[in-house]
Amino acid sequence: MSEQQPESVARAWREVVDTARRSAADGLVVGTSGNVSARVGDLVLVTPSGVPYDRLGPEDAVGVGLDGHQVLGKLRPTSELPLHLTVYRETDAAAVVHTHAVHATAVSTLVTEVPLVHYAAAILGGPVRTAAYARYGTPELADAMLTALRGRTGCLLANHGTVTHGATLDQAYERTAQLEWLCRLWLTANVVPGLSPSLLSRAQLDEVTEALKGYGQEKG
Ligand code: 13P
Ligand code: ZN
Repeated sequence: MSEQQPESVARAWREVVDTARRSAADGLVVGTSGNVSARVGDLVLVTPSGVPYDRLGPEDAVGVGLDGHQVLGKLRPTSELPLHLTVYRETDAAAVVHTHAVHATAVSTLVTEVPLVHYAAAILGGPVRTAAYARYGTPELADAMLTALRGRTGCLLANHGTVTHGATLDQAYERTAQLEWLCRLWLTANVVPGLSPSLLSRAQLDEVTEALKGYGQEKG
């Protein structure tokens, strides 16, 4: 990145790269699968297409405008640019994480909505939907994702992976990790022949959503 870049952009790029590396280290992606982005004002920093995350340095920052026009860097942006930009255009998210997490991807081939085996679904805003299949990198996939995301902060992409968003990269990443865990739980609960897991009702999940507003430490 050139020296004229504001510190906020340099910091956001470091966080994008750190998050992408973390997704590989945690086993949520293999190789150059998945992609990560963060919004700084009207600039969207995105991982480049097909570049191993451990090779990315400060000089490799890739930035596009909300219209997809490249304004920063020489490397070609992720092929999932339509997916990332759709989230920024349609929500107030400042970060997006896309992975091929194995349990979530397995579940995306089985159901159109992740069954409510655990209240962790409340972290994603409710029962997590599966977006209809479309080829990677297409506007059709971004459209299907947008439909599945309605009222949620994450969804599955059929036969492909996960997308989550958040106010920060840490929040978007945490949602991906919780979604992968939830899918792993459902698959695990389904392995006993002749038995199927009991599920929470919507009312029970709504109750959790309320309770979670006061979860953790007091703010401020
Ligand atoms: P990129 O390397 O172009 O980001 O593609 C990875 C991917 O997950 C496509 O869906
Ligand atoms: Zn993908």
